[in-house]
Amino acid sequence: MTATTPAIPHWINGTPWPVVPDRVGDVYNPATGAISAQVAFADAEVIDEAVASAKRAYAGWRDSSLTKRTQVLFAFRELLNTHKEDLAAIITAEHGKVLSDALGEVTRGLEVVEFACGIPHLLKGGFSESVSTGVDVYSIRQPLGVVGVISPFNFPAMVPMWFFPIAIAAGNAVILKPSEKDPGSANFIAQLWAQAGLPEGVFTVLHGDKVAVDGLLTHPDVKSISFVGSTPIARYVYETGTAHGKRVQALGGAKNHMLVLPDADLDLAADQAVNAGFGSAGERCMAISVVVAVEPVADALVAGITERMSQLRTGDGTRGCDMGPLVTLAHRDKVATYIDAGVNEGATLVVDGRNVEIDGASDGFWLGPTLFDNVTPSMSVYADEIFGPVLSIVRVQSYAEGLALINDHPYGNGTAIFTNDGGAARRFQNEVEVGMVGINVPIPVPMAYYSFGGWKNSLFGDSHAHGMEGVNFFTRGKVVTSRWLDPSHGGLNLGFPTQT
Ligand code: NAD
Repeated sequence: MTATTPAIPHWINGTPWPVVPDRVGDVYNPATGAISAQVAFADAEVIDEAVASAKRAYAGWRDSSLTKRTQVLFAFRELLNTHKEDLAAIITAEHGKVLSDALGEVTRGLEVVEFACGIPHLLKGGFSESVSTGVDVYSIRQPLGVVGVISPFNFPAMVPMWFFPIAIAAGNAVILKPSEKDPGSANFIAQLWAQAGLPEGVFTVLHGDKVAVDGLLTHPDVKSISFVGSTPIARYVYETGTAHGKRVQALGGAKNHMLVLPDADLDLAADQAVNAGFGSAGERCMAISVVVAVEPVADALVAGITERMSQLRTGDGTRGCDMGPLVTLAHRDKVATYIDAGVNEGATLVVDGRNVEIDGASDGFWLGPTLFDNVTPSMSVYADEIFGPVLSIVRVQSYAEGLALINDHPYGNGTAIFTNDGGAARRFQNEVEVGMVGINVPIPVPMAYYSFGGWKNSLFGDSHAHGMEGVNFFTRGKVVTSRWLDPSHGGLNLGFPTQT
């Protein structure tokens, strides 16, 4: 890097915060391997400053009218829509995913903003008139205060947008701690909020590593944590945050299975296995990483997938390629190690991504689409979340054997069944122990008005992201029992209140 390497600052109190050069991290362009920027890493002092600024802003924002908040939300939605290509370009430059995929990520985030624009309706409470003589009861939902959002590298725009539009619409002040690997989107989004008229301090970006995360997890003025990342960190965040009295939702890793029954449309199944296995270089928590083929379809399916893989172009995401690089060199090497392990453990390597021909700079973090056949549950390529372009085929003899495999896996984020038998699909949706289920749909990411989240080791806490679970997560319920004085009031009665 050079002295002119751009710096990515925190965004505190509606303005960039000066970067201190001794606590920074390198940001790479994965398609070239070059350092493109340095991002600030927060220390205790900056964390305190960020929380204090958010707390001050919260005091005013919580009391702003629903009309005012909705106006800001609509303005933000318009700005985001206008600038979605600019945001997608930042994502591609720092994450590596191809431009069309980055644009898709922004679009899915926009859906949550649009959902949050309906906050006046979403926050409506109940009202019961005359529950007792002259007494009414009603419920209201109020914001929590300063809330923390900690996000992973793989969706630098969409995952934060699962949370902050609803949190802000509900009257909270948000501190976003993005991944240090691709931090630029968060600052771009902060500028859009400022242009939309959001008061200073309601949206803060605090960059950094474990120090920033721990600072938010333990700070008494941070009331909730919404975390998305790998399972070990999600478990740590959940345990630490709840031990410090916070409401926590912590979404973790995944190993998503696609069950293909003998009556499935095999062309559709092969198309979707390739799309869902290698889109975003497999760096999606909803990526399909295991195809469970119920015999006798495995040979045909492997042939169909292999043929389609030969058509994929791996390379620079700005050049119209199908699949970009991996996010860092360390991650690229880790995924390559899994390919070595699969070979050593006896899986059949059908397509080897280590030899891929690339359309891009030679120092990019490249690894091509890889296919293993005859994978068994004891192999590390099956057991672990690889988070790269490695697809495994497991051959089973029956629906029941396939279902047991899925239900026995410690992760339970997403799954899909491919079949033309409605009865089998209905049975699967009922019996499978996974939070999000696709029927002839490989990546069943729910729309914003439903809630996103897995089961088992894929989510710690009770609340999924967005939809009504998101609204409830970012608000606290209160029930008011009221009586306005009239001639019937008065009199002493120490008994427990009952209706009369
Ligand atoms: P990660 O767990 O390494 O990082 C996530 C966040 O935690 C980042 O902001 C990072 O700075 C922070 N962090 C990293 N190490 C930490 C530590 N030791 N202590 C405290 N904080 C720490 O995850 P990642 O590599 O950025 O993202 C990929 C992972 O995220 C995959 O496991 C993927 O499945 C998961 N993911 C899950 C979902 C979901 O909805 N379940 C969605 C997207 C990604």
